[in-house]
Amino acid sequence: MNDPAAEIRRYCLEKGADLVGFAPASRWDERGEVPPPYRPASIWPGTRTVIVMGMAMILPIVETTPSVLHLEHYRIVNRRLDELAYDLTRFLNGRGHASTFFVRDGYTSLRAVRRRPAAFGHVRAAYYAGLGTVGMNSCLLTPRFGPRVRFVSVFTSLEIPPDPVMEKEQCIRCETCVRCCPKEAIVPRKDRVVGDFRRDACMDMAEELTRRRVYPCGICTKVCPVGADRKLYPQRGIVKRYLAERETLARDPEAGEYRSWEHIRRHGAPDGERDGA
Ligand code: SF4
Ligand code: SF4
Repeated sequence: MNDPAAEIRRYCLEKGADLVGFAPASRWDERGEVPPPYRPASIWPGTRTVIVMGMAMILPIVETTPSVLHLEHYRIVNRRLDELAYDLTRFLNGRGHASTFFVRDGYTSLRAVRRRPAAFGHVRAAYYAGLGTVGMNSCLLTPRFGPRVRFVSVFTSLEIPPDPVMEKEQCIRCETCVRCCPKEAIVPRKDRVVGDFRRDACMDMAEELTRRRVYPCGICTKVCPVGADRKLYPQRGIVKRYLAERETLARDPEAGEYRSWEHIRRHGAPDGERDGA
């Protein structure tokens, strides 16, 4: 490959990635933020570069969460990301550059994640690959999609010129995610942008939604005002609407401004309370 970065980027974009970035495996060691067993070169010692690909979540669907529509969208993106990683790995292997990949999720149950996180973190990888910065909600906030994007990573023995880590902080510390989280799982901190994350509280929510078959929650990604996708779907006063949603619906489940989201939520899942059909 004469220009591996350009060639790989083109390949990924043509295959359906929305974002692509390159992080040298050495960045994990230089930064020292990730425990050694979770670093790419520990997981596969041949790793020189981690190629991170992102695919967007579509805002009007994310806004219906928790819903079957959101669940299906989440599944589609996860599957597409895993396929992308598999395809890119074979593409690189076929050109003599030994590579492997780490699937999108890498766990079998919420009980397993409650005990310990996945063996590799794509959010940190995407940050090291220059795709965005980590926001108060612990998600990667990207200029194009805010946190409404999911990632997968390919580990390759190929040395690729790295992308710089993004300097400009994307999180505006508005605390909308904090105020909208139904479990108070995000706790702001004065000394840094990334909040403390109450993992068990978030997992409680995930388990409730899994029982209702409308997992995942994703409210903290829905309400984040960051991301150019908001310009594509402009909505006046949307943050106010997010902030008032829970209280308004508790008072009036038929409130007009939430009717379309509630319509979606009431269909397709075996939840007696929301089954309006
Ligand atoms: S996914 Fe839901 S419960 Fe978890 S932190 Fe985000 S808003 Fe809170
Ligand atoms: S909602 Fe506001 S505070 Fe939360 S991650 Fe987005 S910009 Fe940061």
